[in-house]
Amino acid sequence: MSNLFKPVIYQKDIFSINYDKLSNNGIRYLLFDIDNTIAETNVRKPSKKVIKLFAELKLKGFNIVILTNAVPWRAKRFAKTLDVDVCYLACKPASFNYKKISKKYNIEYGKIAAIGDQLYTDVKGANKLGILSILVEPLAKRESFITKYNRLKEDKIIKKDKVIVRGVFYD
Ligand SMILES: [Mg+2]
Repeated sequence: MSNLFKPVIYQKDIFSINYDKLSNNGIRYLLFDIDNTIAETNVRKPSKKVIKLFAELKLKGFNIVILTNAVPWRAKRFAKTLDVDVCYLACKPASFNYKKISKKYNIEYGKIAAIGDQLYTDVKGANKLGILSILVEPLAKRESFITKYNRLKEDKIIKKDKVIVRGVFYD
């Protein structure tokens, strides 16, 4: 049970991830969360730094899909600026949208990595299907009510099962 919440990789932020290693390990698709992963919840557009990273990742041969529980207008704005596909209102950690993406792009779970800031949505959703889970530290403390509730549960899991030690990153 607790293994579902243990990220395969844990890094400070999306810029610290070793994408070359992912590529060498056969990862072809990257699923990115939005809120507190690529932008703070009150920020309406991706930063120049994120735009540059996404361009570099595409050059490295990755396909990128934004997979977010966020509302359509927010998700679409990010996807448009970053020029990537998007799946919004994703209901992570539910499996159906991960399955839909796998089918739509004809890609096995073993070739997908999912990047996000929450154990209860991003990590659990990926781990359930054998998608490579990558946890990053949340960008800011400002969060929605639902996320705050998830964080309380997250803290419990971290304390009880020691799935991560906050700030002790691994690759
Ligand atoms: Mg998030």
